[in-house]
Amino acid sequence: MKIEIKNCEIMQWKNGGAEFLRGSIAIGEGTIRSIGEIPKSFSPDRVIDAGGALALPGLVNAHTHVSMSLLRNLADDLELMKWLQDKVWPIEEKMSEEDVHIGALISMVEMIHSGITAFADMYFSMDQVAAAAAEAGLRANIGVGLTGDGETSKPKLQSFREFYDRYNGKADGRIVVDLAPHAPYTCDGDCLSAAAEVARDLGCGLHIHLAETSGEVEECKKRYGLSPIFLAERAGLFEGRAIAAHCVHVDEADIELLADKGVHVVHNPTSNLKLASGFAPTAAMIEAGVSLAIGTDGPASNNNQNMLEEIHLAAILAKAVAGDPTAMPAAQALQIATEGGAKALGLAEAAGSLSEGAPADLLLLRTDKAHMRPLHDPVAAVVYGAGPSDIDTLICDGKVIMTGGIIETLDEEEIIKKAQEAAIRLISR
Ligand SMILES: [Zn+2]
Repeated sequence: MKIEIKNCEIMQWKNGGAEFLRGSIAIGEGTIRSIGEIPKSFSPDRVIDAGGALALPGLVNAHTHVSMSLLRNLADDLELMKWLQDKVWPIEEKMSEEDVHIGALISMVEMIHSGITAFADMYFSMDQVAAAAAEAGLRANIGVGLTGDGETSKPKLQSFREFYDRYNGKADGRIVVDLAPHAPYTCDGDCLSAAAEVARDLGCGLHIHLAETSGEVEECKKRYGLSPIFLAERAGLFEGRAIAAHCVHVDEADIELLADKGVHVVHNPTSNLKLASGFAPTAAMIEAGVSLAIGTDGPASNNNQNMLEEIHLAAILAKAVAGDPTAMPAAQALQIATEGGAKALGLAEAAGSLSEGAPADLLLLRTDKAHMRPLHDPVAAVVYGAGPSDIDTLICDGKVIMTGGIIETLDEEEIIKKAQEAAIRLISR
């Protein structure tokens, strides 16, 4: 399928910031073929008139648990461990494969509306999340959740190997399988080391929650004499591509280690605020050269999957936390949520940018509503003012996922209805 998008303001990363070029985008075989002027020889199967909208790289939600949407608005205003132990875990025990599937699908709907083309997930029954992502047409890093100790993790790691062989590279390469040891408080040191060994062996990425709360850091130091970051490093988790969600309670030595090892830290501002976990020192991490990405975290601790809101919060929180209004400027926040996320997920070279040869993962964002005007600086308008209702079109891997705010790959109405019914059945089980 060849697509031409005409009449758009194309955002490109140039000279350390964002620059706009008025013109068209030619897409063929999943890749951006040309930007600006379209060669006369290009004959598209489909032409999309952007009507002057901004063309931006697709947003990357680098840490979430999509199927937790069924637990949305169910247990709020609680502290993390109480929330997990008393509310989340008992309900998750009763979740069926169908629940995980419909929970993932309703998140796909929401993520598509908020401009997300790729996401990194961590949960169980991940074949269901992979199936939902394949149906939606999105890219997904399927992080297969792992908890336990050296002994109990053995059979789980064996079935992970089988899962990896079956699903990695599926859906035309849009499905990537990662191993996801949950956290240092749910996996012991032996479990983490065993996970690192399997990841090394298969060459797959790792995805883990690290240093989310001060309590976790204290416990970890008491048990191992190491911070969660140093524990993860000692276990070998940072040898390949590693996604570390949260990293809220990190000191200078932790930050230096994260930068040195090229760990992809995912900032989850809403979740950290809502669970009162704290403020991740993002400006200090950027200064130290840490590779950052942004994620929504699960819809039970957010309560939405709106990446535009996360980008907005990341940009304004960085300033308040650093006491510096120049910290994380708008373009940098957007670059972290696109290029930064693409690196965390290990996507192809040039992913997260609109350039020739890059994967055709992009969105069109309208700027004609009151809250977007006047449009002196389009990047500031996107980061500080835009919402999902401004996102008109989404393309992933060169295929149209949504146009005019209507999703083409999924039946939105039907999914919302089924998810509501499944959630009611789940809590009354
Ligand atoms: Zn999480």
